[in-house]
Amino acid sequence: MNGSVALVTGASRGIGRAIAERLAADGVEIAVHYNSDKAGAEETLERIGGRGFLVGAELGVPDDVDEVFGQLSEGLSGRSLGILVNNAAAPPAGPLETDTVDAFDRLFAVNVRAPYFLIQRLLPVLADDGRIVSISSAATRMANPVQTSFAMTKGAVETMTLTLAQELGRRGITVNAVSPGATRTEANGAFFETPGLVDFVTRQTALERLGRGEDVAEVVAFLASDAARWVTGQTVDATGGLFLGPRFA
Ligand code: NAP
Repeated sequence: MNGSVALVTGASRGIGRAIAERLAADGVEIAVHYNSDKAGAEETLERIGGRGFLVGAELGVPDDVDEVFGQLSEGLSGRSLGILVNNAAAPPAGPLETDTVDAFDRLFAVNVRAPYFLIQRLLPVLADDGRIVSISSAATRMANPVQTSFAMTKGAVETMTLTLAQELGRRGITVNAVSPGATRTEANGAFFETPGLVDFVTRQTALERLGRGEDVAEVVAFLASDAARWVTGQTVDATGGLFLGPRFA
């Protein structure tokens, strides 16, 4: 991976920032993508010793991928892209009772349409032995009614992963996904303050703690590395064993 360039979407904070830092530690130059939080993206860039450049663009709106492509091409200046990490996503829109068509469409535009067409747009600059890693969610394998439409978007990401792996394999490109579970980040810290929540999640996790961005980033780094050259079309669970089965004590 040394000397390669990775685009990490949503790298201004949270899991995306952890992925940027982890890949940078492997010698990868990072295109640090952000939407509203330029200061956060600048901090990510600073944390990786400035080895990269910023790409600012809202996803899920018309011309989003063209905007990313334009800024990325400038930063690449003729080099190819080695790794694409589709990490940016909109948060759950609530249960069926209160979900709206607008919120649903927005979720699908950001979480599904954007990564899909970003891959299409970036294929000409993606290296022939390149890597695509998308961040899914454990929400696809457990029933959590407050996240139905969100889980549906991640299900689509996993299906995209499987089918694009088949299509892009002929170019040596691997396509995989990583599924985090309950992962504490700067943005959701307040959510985990909900009384009893951390205890509950911890008790339902085989490894008995909340996840950290770094836990997910390690798995992404593996899939992005040469060591994972024979792994494609997979969704790797990185939840510490969240809801593997009943835990009575
Ligand atoms: P986060 O802290 O909320 O950060 C989201 C990132 O995505 C930010 O950099 C944000 O950019 C960017 N983003 C959001 N909407 C965007 C849009 N419309 N256009 C462009 N960029 C946008 O998220 P996270 O918790 O680190 O989650 C990262 C990934 O892991 C997501 O795919 C999420 O679904 C998945 N995941 C997280 C958890 C968890 O417990 N944290 C669990 C399962 C799955 P700005 O800040 O610059 O606006």
